[in-house]
Amino acid sequence: MKEKGSILFEEDKRTHWAEVILPLALPQVYNYAVPPALISAVLPGCRAEVVLGKTKKYAGIIKSVFSTAPSYPTKDILQVLDEEPLLYKEQLKLWEWMSQYYMCSEGEVMAAALPTNFKLSSEAVLIYNESYGENFEQLNNEEYLVAEALLIKKQLSITEVQSILDVHNIYPTAKSLLEKNVCFIYEELAEKYKVKTQNFVTLHPDYEEERNLESLLNDWHGAPKQMELLLAFLHFYKTEGEVQQPDLLKKANATAAQLKALETKGIVIISKQNIDRIKSLAPVMQVDYELSEAQDYAYKEIKSNFRSKPVTLLHGVTGSGKTEIYIKLIEEQFLQAKQVLYLLPEIALTAQMIRRLQKHFGGNIAIYHSKFNNQERIELWNKVRTGEIKIVLGARSSLFLPFKKLGLIIVDEEHDPSYKQFDPAPRYNARDAAIYYAHLFSAKVLLGTATPSLESYYNASLGKYALVELNERYSKLALPVIEIINTAQVAGKGKVSISPQLEEAIKETVENDRQAILFQNRRGYNPYMICGTCGYIPKCTHCDVSLTLHKYTNKLHCHYCSSTYSKLPHCIACGTNTWQEKTFGTEKIEEELENTFPDFRIARMDVDTVRGKTAHDNLLLQFEQQKIDVLVGTQMVVKGLDFAKLQLVGILDADGLLSFNDFRVNERAYQLMEQVSGRAGRKLEVGKVMLQAINVKHPILQYVVRHDYKAFYADEIEKRKEYFYPPFSRIVLLTLKHKDRETVINAVNKLAALLRQDLEPYIVGPVAPVIGRIKNQYLMEIMIKLPKEKNKGDKYRDVINLHIDQMQAATAYRSVRVVKNVDVM
Ligand code: ADP
Ligand code: ZN
Repeated sequence: MKEKGSILFEEDKRTHWAEVILPLALPQVYNYAVPPALISAVLPGCRAEVVLGKTKKYAGIIKSVFSTAPSYPTKDILQVLDEEPLLYKEQLKLWEWMSQYYMCSEGEVMAAALPTNFKLSSEAVLIYNESYGENFEQLNNEEYLVAEALLIKKQLSITEVQSILDVHNIYPTAKSLLEKNVCFIYEELAEKYKVKTQNFVTLHPDYEEERNLESLLNDWHGAPKQMELLLAFLHFYKTEGEVQQPDLLKKANATAAQLKALETKGIVIISKQNIDRIKSLAPVMQVDYELSEAQDYAYKEIKSNFRSKPVTLLHGVTGSGKTEIYIKLIEEQFLQAKQVLYLLPEIALTAQMIRRLQKHFGGNIAIYHSKFNNQERIELWNKVRTGEIKIVLGARSSLFLPFKKLGLIIVDEEHDPSYKQFDPAPRYNARDAAIYYAHLFSAKVLLGTATPSLESYYNASLGKYALVELNERYSKLALPVIEIINTAQVAGKGKVSISPQLEEAIKETVENDRQAILFQNRRGYNPYMICGTCGYIPKCTHCDVSLTLHKYTNKLHCHYCSSTYSKLPHCIACGTNTWQEKTFGTEKIEEELENTFPDFRIARMDVDTVRGKTAHDNLLLQFEQQKIDVLVGTQMVVKGLDFAKLQLVGILDADGLLSFNDFRVNERAYQLMEQVSGRAGRKLEVGKVMLQAINVKHPILQYVVRHDYKAFYADEIEKRKEYFYPPFSRIVLLTLKHKDRETVINAVNKLAALLRQDLEPYIVGPVAPVIGRIKNQYLMEIMIKLPKEKNKGDKYRDVINLHIDQMQAATAYRSVRVVKNVDVM
């Protein structure tokens, strides 16, 4: 190995050191010495190549540079990979805050925050990019050597690259090959989403010049069909900015040959592009609508609040036109050359929403979500960093983009639990992290929703946030009328899922050329098999949960670990063959509807029917175009959608929503019912909601019927106070995992005893969670309800970390994993 020399321990010759964050779950940030030659290159936010342990190399992020020698020997930074920092001090601050608040390492935050192609390490594998072709003229010697090897072998590990190149060139060469798109870093996910390509039509640059285009059109001879096509294209191109071949041909009623002729004439360019790519729309900006009087009032209030408070909660009823208010606020920031981040829950990032915003912002708005591939992430990352992109519409993780001059963050549907990352760490809530992040830029935050989270409304009631209310729909239509149907009186007639009243309403709705959505909660209501003789329910052998019957595969599936099982011919407990299917799932309802209404067009939307992003969008588009009469769906149908002809909403099982063993059960049930109701009757006439329940007296149902958020809040906040739940406390949930049941139980008892020394009154448990085993790991939980005293949060977290370390210091418990979830949802 020629590596000696690169690892030095001559700290007396060093004058500078750097803290380097490595993308790993390490408990701390590591210090490295800066060789004199690198002093001017070592800037916070740049990547540095370093060795961890004996040989493993990583590209870490330089966090800070300092000049007091650490009291222990340090290795050298091998080289600095970036000339300019990948990110600014604000992002580094966000990482630091996140790791403290959510009790994880900065390395784990880095791993989540940086696009994969930035994360070089000994373990990384380079994959040849087939679409790069074989033209290596642009490459230097080192790049060429590796590219050739890649061309032949298709993939190379960094260790293999090492055998090709001199040690000093490995990371810089890998980095530049990634930048030149010759290869990308293997990522398990990237493989799953096949890139979809489509022919895009653009205008030849010669004709971007208005004069040239004019003379082309004036001097046109013959080929009238081509002319017609060209005009259609130009219209499309000017208004939408982006033209896909199939759409154009359909709109212009033209053939591919006619389009090809335009290309041969050098008027248009046809190119294959990835459909999900960052859209290269014309940078036009048109905010060409008027706010209603109520909207305008709310808008002005928001602006005046922003002068005194950084965070405003906009509580606007469903259909009140919150999006239109956001658009005005975004435009304003844009005109001041400031950046805006518009956050939405991933599932609400639908084509419908994107189209709505692109209509106003054209190419000035960039979209960011989890289905993007590596190159696209890097491209967007860099454009946000330079400030070229001003407006980003994205899901949770777009919070990590390196904004330069952020002016406003909008958190739409702020109540949505999917803002909280569940796994892996950082287990952050993007809404709360957004508030911290904005504060670093002195930027403003607007939280928008029709059903505020208890936390946000409470903060508004304390005056920490400003509150703006918008109580009328843009259409001036009243909120939908809600009717409760007592299903206890319906039971026994064979059909449990759809009552005769609802059936009648569906019939009437569709016959009137209107549409319906039926909402069925999925959690807890999966179809399952039960032995009709002894009551045995087949369970997953790894997870201790009942299996779910999928009609499509005709197999039993475990929803926790994805194992599948064939149906058993006989019950393993009693040997009879008397299986019954207990099914309340969306699939069963769809089937039932199809039997009742053979002429209606019925579709289903749940995680099984919308694998891949386009499936979701396609279903919604079909619904929007009224190619579907009745849509049966889970939570997915709830989020922020706007359909003109949707008149009827059926909530099939309100009891199910209210039966979870969770302190947020009422809040979630209210939010879901109010949100799904809110989809009905937004444009044409007042909508109707039918709410099926057995426990019809439940107070939450009454609040939903009256659309009375305030009464719901007043009732619920009292309960939270009484039981010391958030927003009055802050919950830290510790989950211990181990493959041996005894070990995890002993460990959790030990940890609970340690924690009780300092936090006695706040400890709940330990308990085994409802699902006590997942993927062969036994689980135990301790819940800590911490008081929210000012500036004490860090102290509490230190105490908890200390006790976890103490517990794990015992050899027997070293292999017990502890998952820390702060502000658990
Ligand atoms: P919310 O998000 O508050 O539920 P939306 O923003 O979806 O409501 O608005 C509901 C409907 O009203 C949408 O179709 C929207 O285009 C329309 N709308 C709202 N405000 C305006 C306005 N000022 N001008 C024109 N249309 C509007
Ligand atoms: Zn399982």
